[in-house]
Amino acid sequence: MTASIIDGKATAAMVVERVTLETARLISNTGIVPGIAVVIVGDDPASQVYVRSKGKRAHECGFHSLTHKLPEDTKEEALLSLIDELNQDDKIHGILVQLPLPEHIAEAKIIQAVSPDKDVDGFHFINVGKLGTGEIANAFVPCTPAGCMVLMRQALGKEDFSGLNAVVVGRSNIVGKPIANLLLAANATVTIAHSRTNDLPAITAAADILVAAVGRSEMIRADWVKPGAVVIDVGINRIAAPEKGEGKTRLVGDVAYEECAEVASAITPVPGGVGPMTIAMLMATTLTAACRKAGITPPKF
Ligand code: NDP
Repeated sequence: MTASIIDGKATAAMVVERVTLETARLISNTGIVPGIAVVIVGDDPASQVYVRSKGKRAHECGFHSLTHKLPEDTKEEALLSLIDELNQDDKIHGILVQLPLPEHIAEAKIIQAVSPDKDVDGFHFINVGKLGTGEIANAFVPCTPAGCMVLMRQALGKEDFSGLNAVVVGRSNIVGKPIANLLLAANATVTIAHSRTNDLPAITAAADILVAAVGRSEMIRADWVKPGAVVIDVGINRIAAPEKGEGKTRLVGDVAYEECAEVASAITPVPGGVGPMTIAMLMATTLTAACRKAGITPPKF
């Protein structure tokens, strides 16, 4: 079997196009312009790139977009007071604090300071609780897991995963656990595996849907994959690429792509799979936040 490639770049572009259309409709019907504020503290180069891309996409969608760049030595109180201001700002519907934060700032405290109604990252306890109890229609769901679900629904051609075994490798709060909860809500039978799991290959080999969110380059091999499975690779790992020249690197996922593509029915590449979906779903979530504030049913993505 040679898997079909799940094109996250194309799907993300479709999501952004739909957000742009629905935003124009919201503005013309209500005058409300979805607003997003992105807050970044310090000079981490990868975070700077992400924040720039988020700002660019937000403009493309027709949003009101603010980026607050704060210096590395910003005090926790100053960040909390900015978040409080943004919580009160009627023009802002979504607040995203770029992680990681510098060590002197308590990340957990900052995440919980964002109003749950503007928590487009879906990290506030209220949103985590809603997702965990199946109140998904009223929750904000973390963007990467939400993007994975869009790709899975597309690959499987359905929204209801009844009867399918899903295995999620990784149990982080931002990826593994929310994906597992979303799969459960879609009626899949879900197993969560992690670093303390025994005989991982035997467990993944039973998966009709296999999600890898580990952070270990090409850990999932072909013989770990059930023939015909849908494989979603969340991992982003930078490895040396001497074939491209001295000191060069390239990105790979947690799945050994070439060999697993021979076994799976559909698979996400890295890059170009889950990655582009994250920012697209952030835009969708911000539009959702603006619609909810306006008392309008948000579009489904
Ligand atoms: P974390 O490091 O927070 O979690 C990794 C998880 O993998 C943990 O639950 C850990 O288990 C588990 N794990 C580690 N080693 C093994 C192993 N040998 N066997 C089985 N399980 C193992 O990572 P994140 O969840 O934040 O991210 C996972 C990957 O996804 C990373 O590569 C990250 O870069 C990428 N990512 C991609 C995004 C995108 O937009 N595409 C967005 C976010 C993340 P335990 O809990 O027992 O330690």
